[in-house]
Amino acid sequence: MTAPEPRLVLATHNQGKLRELRELLRGQVPGLDVDTQVVDAGTVGAPDVRETGVTFEANALLKAHAVAQATGLPSIADDSGLAVDVLGGAPGIFSARWAGRHGDDQANLDLLLAQLGDIAAEHRGAAFICAAALASPDGTERVELGRLPGTLLDAPRGEGGFGYDPILLPEGSELSCAELSGEAKNAISHRGQAFRALMPEIIRVLAAG
Ligand code: IMP
Repeated sequence: MTAPEPRLVLATHNQGKLRELRELLRGQVPGLDVDTQVVDAGTVGAPDVRETGVTFEANALLKAHAVAQATGLPSIADDSGLAVDVLGGAPGIFSARWAGRHGDDQANLDLLLAQLGDIAAEHRGAAFICAAALASPDGTERVELGRLPGTLLDAPRGEGGFGYDPILLPEGSELSCAELSGEAKNAISHRGQAFRALMPEIIRVLAAG
């Protein structure tokens, strides 16, 4: 028996993001087998896309459109980062390479903590931000933003999560993002909010196709 054809592509190689999206979609679209028909970029040979935009929304749309055009399938992409008030919104779209090398989470976090060394708690406001975009091969698009506001700690706390999670204390939480369970973080996170906001449009596009 041959596997069912993919119907939706997530423009990423990150298996964690793929798992999260499949869980959000499970049972939402009649006849959609999320485990075989919602796939990552590698599965359908989609190209890696350079993030040349200057906003989270622009980068998410850029990736979603490029993958939709390359595969002929509706595609979803996200772009996210940390915006620090006292830095005027930086690292922002540069979050993954703030210390110079893409994806060096420890160096990025160490540099940010050093930069904020003299800044008092009341001025350490920051937020994780995520843009999630859906693009169809016919060029239609939709993008949604999610935001998780909080305060930056002066030293890392917790072993979970990734990136800047150990230093963001979400508003109203006594636990840093790295101390929250994955489920608890997803319930409030910027990424969870953006994907949940996009969900009705994803369901509409899949049901129409
Ligand atoms: P991307 O959207 O996967 O490109 O992520 C950009 C960068 O933003 C990551 O490398 C992290 O440094 C940071 N970031 C985005 N979302 C989170 C999060 O949920 N926790 C911690 N860091 C994050």
